[in-house]
Amino acid sequence: MSRTPIIAGNWKMFKTIAEAKEFAMVVTNELQGVTGADMVVCAPFTALAALRDALTGSNLLLGAQNVHFAEEGAYTGEISPRMLTELGVRYVIIGHSERRAYFNETDETVNKKVHASLKHSLIPIICVGEDLDQREAGQTFTIVEEQTRAAIAGVAANQAAELVIAYEPIWAIGTGKSSTAQDANEVIGHIRKTLAHILDQETANRIRIQYGGSVKPDNIGEFLAQTEIDGALVGGASLVPDSYVGLVRGA
Ligand code: PGA
Repeated sequence: MSRTPIIAGNWKMFKTIAEAKEFAMVVTNELQGVTGADMVVCAPFTALAALRDALTGSNLLLGAQNVHFAEEGAYTGEISPRMLTELGVRYVIIGHSERRAYFNETDETVNKKVHASLKHSLIPIICVGEDLDQREAGQTFTIVEEQTRAAIAGVAANQAAELVIAYEPIWAIGTGKSSTAQDANEVIGHIRKTLAHILDQETANRIRIQYGGSVKPDNIGEFLAQTEIDGALVGGASLVPDSYVGLVRGA
């Protein structure tokens, strides 16, 4: 089963509107005509409208970094799925470890957000991954399995096929210390096995699973060469235009 790789930049809380536009100008030009991978930029909410305009007619797709699960309502400070689709957003990161650690994101809210996003044709990029203590205690497989099961509970196979999962070991995020490609491939293979149990083998074979954690232009090729790894979710190295272009070319 061949899966189209997906390279997604996670800008986190970086870039003003002006900086986002500048990025888009350089990158859309450099990557004109490039095919073979889905290229996504997950920007802060404030930059989405400007980026939609700047990316129109290019091969880059727009993503957000969070979404609320309610349709609308008294949720001060939150953004609904419909508000994102109106802005041309196609992908949304759900359950990033920073949101789990600092903003009370739980397996339960992740699951609600996955359902709400799918209902509005937003493609969730669901993040799972163990911390260093869990890794050293040999719990990596158990943790990613539990997080995956919880995230997609109640999702029908035909909808699940569209999902993207990002395996991001927490100890590798922003540390410059990435997982080895072989280790990441093994964990991602386990996630796919879990998906086959929950859903079915054919659906599991269609779901794209990325690796994330200190991915750079010079190591992305090793990850993408693995049989189970279908792309990368990239923080720091996605911020600089040349580096983003390098990620895509390296893949
Ligand atoms: P990093 O971040 O590439 O800077 O390690 C990855 C992420 O948090 O998605």
